[in-house]
Amino acid sequence: MNEKVRCLIIGSGPAGYTAAIYASRANLSPVLYEGIQPGGQLTTTTEVENFPGYPEGITGPELMEDLKQQALRFGADIRFGIATETDLSAAPYKVTIDGEKVIETEALIIATGATAKYLGIPDEQKYAGMGVSACATCDGFFYRKKVVAVVGGGDTACEEAVYLAGLAKQVYLIVRKPFLRASKVMQERVFNTPNIMVLFEHNTIGLFGENGVEGAHLVKRMGEADEEKVDIAIDGFFLAIGHKPNSDIFKPWIDTDEVGYIKTVPGTPRTKVPGVFAAGDVADPHYRQAITAAGTGCQAAIEAERYLSEIGK
Ligand SMILES: Cc1cc2nc3c(=O)[nH]c(=O)nc-3n(C[C@H](O)[C@H](O)[C@H](O)COP(=O)(O)OP(=O)(O)OC[C@H]3O[C@@H](n4cnc5c(N)ncnc54)[C@H](O)[C@@H]3O)c2cc1C
Repeated sequence: MNEKVRCLIIGSGPAGYTAAIYASRANLSPVLYEGIQPGGQLTTTTEVENFPGYPEGITGPELMEDLKQQALRFGADIRFGIATETDLSAAPYKVTIDGEKVIETEALIIATGATAKYLGIPDEQKYAGMGVSACATCDGFFYRKKVVAVVGGGDTACEEAVYLAGLAKQVYLIVRKPFLRASKVMQERVFNTPNIMVLFEHNTIGLFGENGVEGAHLVKRMGEADEEKVDIAIDGFFLAIGHKPNSDIFKPWIDTDEVGYIKTVPGTPRTKVPGVFAAGDVADPHYRQAITAAGTGCQAAIEAERYLSEIGK
């Protein structure tokens, strides 16, 4: 038989756990499914220095364990399991867990995050947390006065390059194509920043370094007759080739943008389905930070409480 709950939260990153803290303190008896990555993206990083409340910084796994314990303290029911299917055609909404168990919920909070895209070269894994990053806002500070490379040619890559240029001594922007895909405004900002050097028509084929990234192996005009191997010395390698929001199972019912980010009513976590809310990176193409994810997780839980009270559930 299906299990019935009042408030179901999918995802255990900062958005999901924060929603669980607020929802349990509001007596919604939330059930949260952690998914394949309990604790979310931050469990893959070492030092987090920009989450308020930790003046000395904290490791990602410790921060996420703190958030989980805080949610457990107020009675959140946190479970291991992956949402594999949804039916949001009518309330109560149905979410299938691990292809078997069906949960029926009056309110649903989607906090499934987004996954950064990588080039797919083995060195990205080898140097994960040792010079490879997919988030300039998160890790740029560690590269003050150093030399870094950003991979990508779109708006995000240009934004990250300009941001890093304010911290680092030198920024290489590695672009596969002979042009930038970014908007004209962003392109101008890049070209007007003296410590950014754009390497057009370059592909990264590997990274090197003893105890961390010390450089990248590039190929200029790969596959062409005049192909040329180039090595650059760098301390940090930033991926900025996009993210994949984990929204596929919700797409039949709610609106997403062309990339897959869930569309919400501006300034709120409300989706077009009443009682279904989206929080954190899955609905945020712009900021993608732990604190913004936590903030929207809080909003989603408050909205869920108001919605349940309005419908008398
Ligand atoms: C290496 C790294 C370092 C970072 N450093 C910082 C930093 O220093 N400061 C900062 O503010 N931000 C940092 N970030 C960004 C930050 O981690 C994210 O912005 C934040 O984690 C987003 O939170 P979220 O709750 O939206 O989702 P996520 O943390 O992405 O968590 C998503 C959750 O959803 C679950 N999930 C997904 N699909 C399903 C499913 N079908 N069923 C059930 N569960 C599912 C996953 O298991 C996971 O628990 C970093 C990110 C990375 C990758």
